[in-house]
Amino acid sequence: MPDSLSLPPYADTVIIGGGTAGAVVAGLLAGQSDESILILEAGPDYGPVNSGRWPEVFLDARLGYDNAWGYDSGDTYPDRLVPFERARVIGGCSSHNGCAAIWGSRLDYDNWVALGNPGWSADELLPLFREADRRLNVRRYGPAEITPFQQACLDAAHAIGIPRAADLNDLDDDVGIAPSPANIRDGTRWNTAFGFLDPVRERPNLLIRDNVVVDRLVVADDRVTGVVAIAAEGPQTIAAGRVVLAAGTYGSPPILLRSGIGDPDQLAALGVEPVLSLPGVGANLHDHSQLNVTFSGTPELVEQMTAFAEQQWMPGEQDIAKLRSAPYPADAPGFDLHIWPVGGRDPHDREAWLWLLPVSCMTPRSRGRLWLTTTDPAASPLIDHGYLSDPEKSDRAVLIDGVRIAREMASKSPLRELLGKEMAPGSAVESPAELERWAEANVVHYYHPVGTCAMGPAGEPTAVVDARGSVHGLTNAVIADCSIMPVIPRANTNLPAVVVGMRVAQWLLAKS
Ligand SMILES: Cc1cc2nc3c(=O)[nH]c(=O)nc-3n(C[C@H](O)[C@H](O)[C@H](O)COP(=O)(O)OP(=O)(O)OC[C@H]3O[C@@H](n4cnc5c(N)ncnc54)[C@H](O)[C@@H]3O)c2cc1C
Repeated sequence: MPDSLSLPPYADTVIIGGGTAGAVVAGLLAGQSDESILILEAGPDYGPVNSGRWPEVFLDARLGYDNAWGYDSGDTYPDRLVPFERARVIGGCSSHNGCAAIWGSRLDYDNWVALGNPGWSADELLPLFREADRRLNVRRYGPAEITPFQQACLDAAHAIGIPRAADLNDLDDDVGIAPSPANIRDGTRWNTAFGFLDPVRERPNLLIRDNVVVDRLVVADDRVTGVVAIAAEGPQTIAAGRVVLAAGTYGSPPILLRSGIGDPDQLAALGVEPVLSLPGVGANLHDHSQLNVTFSGTPELVEQMTAFAEQQWMPGEQDIAKLRSAPYPADAPGFDLHIWPVGGRDPHDREAWLWLLPVSCMTPRSRGRLWLTTTDPAASPLIDHGYLSDPEKSDRAVLIDGVRIAREMASKSPLRELLGKEMAPGSAVESPAELERWAEANVVHYYHPVGTCAMGPAGEPTAVVDARGSVHGLTNAVIADCSIMPVIPRANTNLPAVVVGMRVAQWLLAKS
């Protein structure tokens, strides 16, 4: 295994975080230029896909939570702790996620342009989504691969009038259900390290250093001159021609804040000398909020699924429904809900079974914030998503209507006979007031945080980077990860993160 010894004194480009988008940027820069590329990744690098060193949990494409950073909601909620899973490993969350390879809606990328970010329209991104599919081995399930639970969900959806989507990744098709495209090859989760780093691992200009945590950037005037990294032997400063921050929505803002980049008053209160005023760092945090409608399952369902698993690989997630809630404007294009049935072995306890109809709000209006309580790079940031906090109460209305749709699905054959008892919200939660209370107490997320270093024109309150990912006020620092998305797309964010990495890499290559 590569170790973290002998960090080089200098690299032309230092990439902070070899995660989903970071591996993409590094792979493209290393393959298409001769400049020296150094990846600093906090987690382990297990080498190429066929190294024999990758633990099974990362190769098995079913959702897993290993090598997690351990972030959670801390004191935000008085009576529960919401985990905010993030992978600490080369390939980042693409190495342990659910493999739904989703593009979203044209409306969202065109909206990024409308917000002052030229170059991000759906038409400009489409070739990149296609290339991302190719690199990540995205495939469609055949009819024989659909599990009995997922087939029952498709049939029940049909029974309540949800059409079958011909292609879930048609950016202009709004409502429908289908098995999701998935980045899985022969049961193996195809992460971005396999798709983008493996082809260039032998290039002499690429150096990957794993188990190295980046503390902060060293800034002089309008330039980043280096990066302070903590390896096994202790902290070391590496000089850099330029830096690409790709530490993720929860990881990139802490590095900027520890570097003195953020809201000056709040930095001073933290004991950090402000070097660049960008109050948007850590603001604008949002995710698809979610409610889980859960069921006990019946012996018949377990029997059918067990028989299926004896014959072939059994994923827990397959179908995704794109839907419009009742509050969605009838004359507007788009959709605002996902229902994505999960059924099979519980990822937390492989001996147990899990049956749920998660309902996710794909157009959340609530915004939260990430902040630091200490400059210790080993400490978790304070993460408050502000779920259901939008003053119009739009998010809760969308979700509660989604629960109604999920219940309607569950009431139809053949799903009704297989699902058993509704465990949550449960039959006692019926009235609008009861559903609101239940929603407030149980809202979680779809694992898709974005927005804490948002793209936008200089001077806008949340803008941290410009339309090309360059940090406002710095000449040689860019950010390439989900944190730069100004508004979350109506998509699971793995493929969009890959496309962010590809787009920023295109611009960096054009410059070099
Ligand atoms: C459990 C789970 C399931 C999911 N399922 C799906 C799905 O099925 N489909 C889908 O589309 N999306 C899914 N997602 C979401 C998707 O995977 C993420 O949105 C996306 O991968 C994030 O990419 P990123 O590059 O922004 O960040 P990451 O992939 O998180 O990369 C950040 C990298 O930076 C490293 N890092 C952080 N801080 C430092 C530091 N200080 N120094 C050095 N390195 C650092 C991290 O270790 C990590 O490798 C899921 C996410 C999770 C957690």
